[in-house]
Amino acid sequence: MGRNTGASCRMCRRERLKLFLKGDRCYSDKCAFERRSFPPGQHGQARGRKPSDYFIQLREKQKVKRMYGMYESQFLNTFREADRQKGVTGENLLRLLERRLDNVVYRAGFASSRNQARQLVRHNHVRVNGRKVNIPSFKVSVNDEITIKEKSRNLALINDSLEAVARRGVPGWMELDPQAYKAVIKSMPERDHITIPIQEQLIVELYSK
Ligand code: SF4
Repeated sequence: MGRNTGASCRMCRRERLKLFLKGDRCYSDKCAFERRSFPPGQHGQARGRKPSDYFIQLREKQKVKRMYGMYESQFLNTFREADRQKGVTGENLLRLLERRLDNVVYRAGFASSRNQARQLVRHNHVRVNGRKVNIPSFKVSVNDEITIKEKSRNLALINDSLEAVARRGVPGWMELDPQAYKAVIKSMPERDHITIPIQEQLIVELYSK
């Protein structure tokens, strides 16, 4: 199963949750989910049978995978890595997802969606500790400095996003210096830092079958 790049708003409606896939639009009253929060399609509002455990687990996995904009194989590999680590697998998984460079660029406010952040990384606009890193799945570590390449600092999309994040704030595990176009990783992301409702245990159950 590939990375679903179809209509983003349909994905939110399918997962019955705002996945914040469209940048500023997600924070405005143009958000499709705010107007129609039921799943798309002719049966979207129908009351069906009680969903099976498998269905619920699958939907949770799809929701998180779509939120982070990943392919199935990438997501499964990340899960396997989380499972090999010490500690609680579900929390390890969320920590690995949050540490992805594209997510960090988004969370720090250099981009208004993970999709936009992925493009910035791929197109060489981002530096990690002063060095070019153009791999969206690169995992940041504590004390890493993520900066925007000097020549890219006048890009409107970056400056617009920074303005928007000044209103929303950044997660507690990073520190942003917008004037220097720099974010520093202060600590590893913890479970409490992820405020979107995710039941990671369902994903663990799904892949443990
Ligand atoms: Fe989801 Fe709303 Fe953003 Fe569309 S605008 S991607 S429905 S959060």
